[in-house]
Amino acid sequence: MHYTKVNREICIACGLCQLIAPSLYEYDKDGIAYTVKDQNKGTMPIQEQEFESFKKAYTSCPTGAILRSTAPFEDLDTQS
Ligand code: SF4
Repeated sequence: MHYTKVNREICIACGLCQLIAPSLYEYDKDGIAYTVKDQNKGTMPIQEQEFESFKKAYTSCPTGAILRSTAPFEDLDTQS
C-alpha cells in the first residue's frame, strides 16, 4: 500500500497535481493542494488504478511537496 499527502508548507499552488490526479488532489481557495480523500492526513491508501497518475503527479511536482509513504502518515507524522 502507498499513501500520499501534501507538504503544504512548500506547495507553490501550481495546480499540476490536481490536473494530473484529480481523484487524489484538490486545492483550496489559495491554490494550495491537499489530498481529497483524507483531508491531507495521508491515511487513505492510493488505489491501484490511481497509482500511475499518482506517480506522474509525484514526479511532476516542481517543489517535491507531494509526499509518499508505504505506511499511513498518521503513524509517522500527525501534522496535516
Ligand atoms: S504539483 Fe506540487 S506545487 Fe503544484 S499544486 Fe501540487 S503539491 Fe503544490
